[in-house]
This record gives sequence, C-alpha cells and structure tokens, in this order.
Amino acid sequence: MRSLKQNILAGLLSGLSLVAATAVAAEEKIKIVASFSILGDMVEQVIGEHASVTTIVGPDADAHIYQPSLADARSVADADVIFVNGLGFETWSDTLIAESGTKATVHIATDGITPVLVDAEVDPHAWNSLLNGVVYVTNIADVLKQKLPEHANDIDANTSAYIAKLNALDAKTKAALAELGDDKRTVVTAHDAFGYLADAYGMNFLAPGGIDSEAEPSAQELAQLKQDGAAALFVENIASPALVQQISDETGLEIGGRLFSDALSERDGPATSYLAMFEHNLGTLLEALK
Ligand SMILES: [Zn+2]
Repeated sequence: MRSLKQNILAGLLSGLSLVAATAVAAEEKIKIVASFSILGDMVEQVIGEHASVTTIVGPDADAHIYQPSLADARSVADADVIFVNGLGFETWSDTLIAESGTKATVHIATDGITPVLVDAEVDPHAWNSLLNGVVYVTNIADVLKQKLPEHANDIDANTSAYIAKLNALDAKTKAALAELGDDKRTVVTAHDAFGYLADAYGMNFLAPGGIDSEAEPSAQELAQLKQDGAAALFVENIASPALVQQISDETGLEIGGRLFSDALSERDGPATSYLAMFEHNLGTLLEALK
C-alpha cells in the first residue's frame, strides 16, 4: 500500500503533467487572424477545431473606417496566418501588419476574383456573391492545408461540405430572385455594398452613400432614386439608419428591413454566420419585394 505522502505526491505529479499537456496542446494550435467577421466565419468553417481564430473587426462593425486597437496589434503580432479580404476593403491592415512586426504570412482571400467596378472604383464587397464565397473558401483551404498538412483530410471534408451549402444557397437565391418582376429589381441601400449580389442575381442596387460608407447623398441624387424606379429601401447593420430614414422621408419609399452588408450580427442576431447572413438578406429582400 502506498503511503498518504506517496498518494499526495502522485496526485500532484499527475496534476502537473495535465497542466503541462494542456499548455502544449494550446501552444500547438496555430493562431489565425481574420480581418473581419464574415471572413473569420469562413476560416472557422474550413479549419474547425484545429486552430484558434481571432477576428479584428467584429459583428455589426464597419471595416471601412475601422481604427485598430492595441489588442488588435497584439493579435496580429502573435498570429501565424493572417487573412484579409483585399480589393481595398481594409484601408488600415497594411499599416497594422507592418507595425506589429508579425512573422505571420498574409493571404488575400479574394485572389482570383474578378473585381466589380463602381464609378471606376474597385468594389471590395466580393462576398456578396455566393460563388465568390466559394473562391474565398477554396483560397483559405489551400493556405491552411499547406500550413497544417496533418489536418488536410479534415480541411478537405469541412471545405467540401461547406462549399456544397454555399452552392445550394446560390441556386436557391438565383431561383427565388428570378421570380421577381422587372419593376421589383431596383432597391436602395445606404452604401454600395451589393454590387456583386446585383451582378450575380440580376438585381440593381442604388446607393447614395457610395462605396465606402462615408459619403452623404445630394438632393439631386435623392430625386434620381425615384426616377430610377427604386422599389424598396433597406437599412444596413453597419450604418446608422438616419441616412436611409432621410431618403425614405424625402422619396416616400418604405424601408423594407435591415440587410447585413459588411459584418455578421451579434450572437443573438439573425446573421451569425456567412450562410445565415446571406439567407437573412435573401429573405428580407423577398419579403419587401414580393
Ligand atoms: Zn462596405
């Protein structure tokens, strides 16, 4: 029989080794930083539990005008892999990455996507077409399989299952929006975030606020909206509803609901993932335009 002292010692040692094992496991997980919430969700869908994923611009926040915090600089400095949208979306990311001194590799999720131009400016909101979403996810998976070849099978399985869902929702969106009459295809949002959705699904989005969510519309632009045959008006989760309310007051167009353009919702909201966000936007459009 072991003495009490031996038992305490054994307990202590197994406790210590448990702490050590946990520390090693935590250290072994690579650290991925994604620049904004929609991209962070895509990365999580691809990698599952095999990495820790940190997102810089969180739910309901505007990445165009984001100002990184000290905590962001620390996350970037500690990261092994960084994913950004690119196409000029994150105006702050190059400086943040350079000044953090990070050794992480930086990857542009929109690589291979043909950009849409709005008034000669590149539209960065490429995720608002689901087939572009498939390109993002494929790019993310390619990078992560190189970084974590030991998890390549899991990454492949996660990626195929996820892409199947994106393709299914793409087909559903095309079929649903094809039913709309021609007088129901033009809608107004505060900023120009849905050019890719418009192109992919035969819609026309007007945005007096321009592409980067900062500009204010002129009276002339407001008058033009009615002439252009706008059928509904939508507020966005990342922007104050004041501008859209003003447009509604001045044009008599009704506000048809809230679209999630550049960020997911908070955890209790309707758009906690890229898929849920797209599904919510589709439902909101159809409800207002039917
Ligand atoms: Zn935007």
